[in-house]
Amino acid sequence: MIPFEELKVDALLVSALPNIRYLTGFTGDNALLIETPDSRTLLTDPRFTIQASQECSCKVRVVSKGPLELAAIEIIRRKKLKRIGFEASRLLYDVYLRLKQALPLGAALKPLGAVVEKLRMIKSADEIARIRRSVVTNSQAFERTIRSIRPGVSEAAVAARLEFEMRRLGAEKSAFDTIVAAGDRSSLPHARPTAKLVARDELLLIDMGACQNGYMSDMTRMLFVGRPGARVQRMYASVAKAQLAAIDAVRPGASAAQVDRKARKVLESDGFGKAFVHSTGHGLGLEIHEPPRVGRRERATLAAGMVITIEPGAYIRGFGGIRIEDTVLVTENGCEVLTPTSKELILL
Ligand code: ZN
Ligand code: ZN
Repeated sequence: MIPFEELKVDALLVSALPNIRYLTGFTGDNALLIETPDSRTLLTDPRFTIQASQECSCKVRVVSKGPLELAAIEIIRRKKLKRIGFEASRLLYDVYLRLKQALPLGAALKPLGAVVEKLRMIKSADEIARIRRSVVTNSQAFERTIRSIRPGVSEAAVAARLEFEMRRLGAEKSAFDTIVAAGDRSSLPHARPTAKLVARDELLLIDMGACQNGYMSDMTRMLFVGRPGARVQRMYASVAKAQLAAIDAVRPGASAAQVDRKARKVLESDGFGKAFVHSTGHGLGLEIHEPPRVGRRERATLAAGMVITIEPGAYIRGFGGIRIEDTVLVTENGCEVLTPTSKELILL
């Protein structure tokens, strides 16, 4: 439920498609939602007439002429709405300008933060079931693909195979551009797959997620072709220890910063503190990155029903990077690691 009173608005204009999907079930890619304490109207264009009637139980207005925001203005005028909240980080500036220009006298636009995202942090049983499904698909696609990885195959070919397998297993698409990074390219935390070939005695980082029934999964695993040397083993052991320490701290009432600190402390004491260049994790659901963030300065308190990733890593230029990532559900008494894939360094 949107807390209209607390927000001091009499309507909320929702422009972010994942938020619209969350509130109405609409999965099309052009819509605007205007919600008041006693009404909800989805505005979309004629391409989505049938789809919207199938997916939404709320009122639907198909706008055949002009931009959707001008149809929203009609509703604002008719209902005499005065304080219209909008999603400040999710509304295009030109849409904002058109709204502002057409607003009836006495009405005002009020920028709001992550209103719907806040509601989305706690997942329903149905959402958790969808995430579980997505996680399983992702891990199965990984299992099916890694068997075929040999020296001489390119990063791009491995990524293509991973995404092919996910879709064959029921995913709509990958949750994000699959990361496959071989050798020292693994030191780029968000490497794009290239034509670089997987070679012997090199690290191979795979970060992948599925999007199934609208919900995301996210996992990173490390592979090694050949026998890893002492330095790789030491770094791997440290990242694994950091990941387990953070998972151990995940429970309702713990702060996101506390969980981050657990991972960071392990890596710092092993000399990899400076090599851990990102935060420990992030929420996921309808989007691959959503609140809460699990970072150094995050004040969010974890609660049962949240789904987050735990993914510490260490990256050394010219040598390589190691990250281990699971999708984790916060439960009443602690947490459940949803990702079924083994966390051992996989030797090929
Ligand atoms: Zn990831
Ligand atoms: Zn992630």
